[in-house]
Amino acid sequence: MLTIFIVVVALAAVGGVSAVFINRANKSEKRLGFLAQYDSLTGLINRPLFQDRLEGALARARRDGGLVTLMFIDIDGFKEVNDRFGHAVGDDLLRQIAGRLVTVLRESDTVARLGGDEFTVILEGANRVEDAGRVATKILRAVSAPYRVGDREVVITVSVGIAMYPVDGDSYSELMSGADTAMYQAKSAGKNTYQYYTRSLRDRTSDRLSLLDDLRVAVEEGDQLRMHYQPKVDVARGAVIGLEALVRWQHPQRGLLLPADFITLAEESDLIAPISQWILDEACKDMKAWLAAGMRPLRVSVNTSDRMFRESGIVESIAVSLAVADLDPRHLEIEVTERTIHMETERVMRAIERMSTMGISVAIDDFGTGSSSLVQLQGMPVRTLKIDNSFVHRINERESSAAIAAATIAIAKQFGMDVIAEGVETVEEMHALADLGCTKVQGYLVARPLAPKDVVRFVANYDTTLSFPKA
Ligand code: C2E
Ligand code: MG
Ligand code: MG
Repeated sequence: MLTIFIVVVALAAVGGVSAVFINRANKSEKRLGFLAQYDSLTGLINRPLFQDRLEGALARARRDGGLVTLMFIDIDGFKEVNDRFGHAVGDDLLRQIAGRLVTVLRESDTVARLGGDEFTVILEGANRVEDAGRVATKILRAVSAPYRVGDREVVITVSVGIAMYPVDGDSYSELMSGADTAMYQAKSAGKNTYQYYTRSLRDRTSDRLSLLDDLRVAVEEGDQLRMHYQPKVDVARGAVIGLEALVRWQHPQRGLLLPADFITLAEESDLIAPISQWILDEACKDMKAWLAAGMRPLRVSVNTSDRMFRESGIVESIAVSLAVADLDPRHLEIEVTERTIHMETERVMRAIERMSTMGISVAIDDFGTGSSSLVQLQGMPVRTLKIDNSFVHRINERESSAAIAAATIAIAKQFGMDVIAEGVETVEEMHALADLGCTKVQGYLVARPLAPKDVVRFVANYDTTLSFPKA
C-alpha cells in the first residue's frame, strides 16, 4: 500500500492526481472507493480509513500485546503560509510534506491526512516508549528542510503530539484526544517539537479549561486584572529611566497569578486582544496620572505578544489608548520579543515603522534568545535592546552567557541603540554588566514590580546608594 502512496504523491506533484486515479482504477466503482478513502490532494488515506486502521491496530495489540503509537502532526503557521503565498503554494507544500512523511516512515507505518494541515501517523510494533520520540525527531528533521515552491524557498515546521496504547488510552477517541492535547502542548512549548501525552497533561488540560472560563469572566467584569510597574534604572546616573508594565491577575480563589500562568492561555484563545487593549489603556492612564502628580517625564513600556501583530490593528489599539488617556506618545515604549520579530518579521517591521513615526519607542525584549538577524535589526527603528534574564543570571558562571551579554552591548553600541539588562538580582551581576559597558538595569536588586500607587514615591526617592561607584 505504501508504494501506491509514493507513486500517487510523486505523480500528484507532476501532473495532478486525477490521472493517477484513472490509471490505477479503471472501473468507476473502484475509483469511487478510492476517492472515499484517500485524500485527493496528497494521496494519503483520509480520516475514515485512518480510523479503521487505528481500530485494527488496537485490536491486534489487545490480542498480541504491544504498543500502538498515534502521532498528531500539525503544521506550524500554515494559515500564514496560505495567506502570504496563496492556496496553490499551500497545496503544493501539503503534497511535499506528505511525500516526506511517507519517505521517512516504514512500510508498516500508516500516514493519513485528516484535512487542513493535520496529519496523523500510526506506528505498530514499536516496543519502547522512546521509539516514538525517535521517529518524531526524524519527522521534525525531514519536514523542516527547505521546500522549493516555484522560484521560492519556503521553510515549514510542524508540532507533533504523541499518545500511546495502552498507557494513554485504549480507544480511538481517547488516543486522538490525547495526541491532540499533546500536539497543542508542543505548540505552546515553542513549536517545531514533539510532546508525549501524559496524565499530568490531562489534568493540566482540564485545569486550563476551567482557568480559561475564569479568565473570560475576569475580562468581562474587568476588576481582577492588575498592572504592576517595574522600574528601570541607570545605575551610573542613579536615576530611574522608565517603568515596565507587567500584568497580574488577582484570581478570586487561586490568589495572585503571574503572566506565565495565564498569558499563553489568553494567547491561545480570543482573550488576548481585549486583555492587551486593557493593559495598554491602563499603562497610558497610569502614566498620565503619575505625570499629573508631578513625576518627572519617563516612559512606560508595554509588552506585546505575536498574536497582536498577526491580527491587524496593534498600532490603532495603541493610538486609541494614547488618545483616551491623552498621553504624549513619547511617554510610551513597546517591547517586542525577539521571538515575535523572528516569527512575524514583516508585520512587526511595518508596525514598528509606524510606531516610531508616531513618536513611540520600541525595545527588543529577551534579546539573545530568539534568532532575529542583524540585517533585520539594522533596518529597524529600535531604540533599546534588553539583555535576557537568563544571560544575566549566568553572567558570572558561564562564559557563553557573558559573551552573549557582551555581544548584545556591542551590537547596541554599533547600531546606536540603548541596552538594558533585565532580571538583575545581585550586586555581582550589576558589576559584571557595568564592566561590559551596560549600566542600565532592571531587576529585583533595584525593585520588584510596584503597585501603581507606589510609583511616584519610588521615582522621587530612588536611592543612589546602589549606583555604580563613580571614579
Ligand atoms: P518580560 O517582559 O521579560 O518581563 C520580565 C519578567 O522578569 C517579569 O516577570 C518580571 O517580574 C521578572 N523579573 C524582573 N526582575 C527580576 C529579577 O530580578 N529576577 C527574576 N527572576 N525575575 C525578574 P513577569 O511579570 O512574571 O512577566 C513574565 C513575562 O510575561 C514577561 O517577560 C512578558 O513576556 C510577559 N508579560 C508580562 N506582562 C505582560 C503584558 O502585559 N502583556 C503581554 N503580552 N505579556 C506580558
Ligand atoms: Mg518585557
Ligand atoms: Mg524579557
